Amino acid sequence: MSVLVPAYARADLAFVKGDGVFLETAAGESYLDFGAGVAVASLGHAHPALVRALCEQAQTLWHTSNLYHIPGQERLAERLVAASFADQAFFANSGAEAMECAIKMARKYHADRGAGERYRVITFEGAFHGRTLATIAAGGQAKHLEGFGPPVDGFDQVALGDLDAVRGVITQETAAIAIEPLLGEGGILTVPWKFLRDLRALADENGVLLIFDEIQTGIGRTGKLFAYEWAGMTPDIMAVAKGLGGGFPVGACLATKEAAQGLSAGTHGSTFGGNPLAMAVANAVLDVVLAPGFLEHVRSMSVALKQKLASLCDEYPDVIADVRGEGLMIGLKCEPPNQQLIEALFEERLLTVPAAGNVVRLLPPLIVEPEHIDMACDRLNAACGRLSGARKQI
Ligand SMILES: *Cc1c(COP(=O)(O)O)cnc(C)c1O
Repeated sequence: MSVLVPAYARADLAFVKGDGVFLETAAGESYLDFGAGVAVASLGHAHPALVRALCEQAQTLWHTSNLYHIPGQERLAERLVAASFADQAFFANSGAEAMECAIKMARKYHADRGAGERYRVITFEGAFHGRTLATIAAGGQAKHLEGFGPPVDGFDQVALGDLDAVRGVITQETAAIAIEPLLGEGGILTVPWKFLRDLRALADENGVLLIFDEIQTGIGRTGKLFAYEWAGMTPDIMAVAKGLGGGFPVGACLATKEAAQGLSAGTHGSTFGGNPLAMAVANAVLDVVLAPGFLEHVRSMSVALKQKLASLCDEYPDVIADVRGEGLMIGLKCEPPNQQLIEALFEERLLTVPAAGNVVRLLPPLIVEPEHIDMACDRLNAACGRLSGARKQI
């Protein structure tokens, strides 16, 4: 029996070392990592600038708590604010916590205006916002809610992309609309950018706040610093996490000063949130991601990868039904069960990530180079060839 709670169905693999886009097992086998720890290792493994930032901070100061000022928080917040729609930032330790902060902030905004009855948040089918009690209720998926008692009240879910449905559930109790601009765990489901602009307008007409969950899409993943930039509009509140720490746990809730006002001293908090180690690493991540040319690199790698994937899709339509996504957040809709492709890719030593809707996600580190894309596509080609042959024999 394992000493670990059986909450994960893990692959029979363990890595002991990482370098750039590669991971190594104890036996010295090298794997090409196109999962990046679920879009977290945005700058690959053991990036020298991140290692340096963490080691330097570790020798200076680890933790003081939010009873005191933390200079790294102010620096990181200033930079995130300068690079986004937001005026203020709250730091947490994970995506779910950043999203919890966003939901609490939206409720408090209305309560402070004498509208405490406005606490409900509209979310979308297929959404994923985390695994806390409130965020599983926000995600609304039976597989995450079952067995955990009555779901936290205050979430109304509608079909993705259905503006009339959103309009239909807005009432005097609606505090906010929350959406991932590109659904990750849900299966790399894209929504038209126009839908996001329409949500903005609808929210404004109804005095409702707009929350974006950019936990997976943020920090360059889609080829812009934040995915909302593609849509040419801005939310009021945004949750960020995964890529922000490049592997160090950190989350952030960014907001306009109007939206953030309600979270006055004592109303919200986190012991570890914005800890000096996390801030040092996240600032080092921004040094790289905000450097001139970095996001252009992400976009050109995206074009190269998508072109190659499109030809694989043409060659093996019985394995890959569709290629979709934005930037380096790409989904392969599979014909056979997605787990079969993921396992065939283990044999080729290429790591990928499953998603709902029978999708395999490709989320390479953003520092990926053309030779890694060629290598990944050769390995995909080999795996697809084997799966395709096996399917033809049945
Ligand atoms: C990963 C993810 C979360 C949850 O983040 P955790 O750090 O696991 O709590 C929430 N929303 C989206 C869109 C995510 O991709």
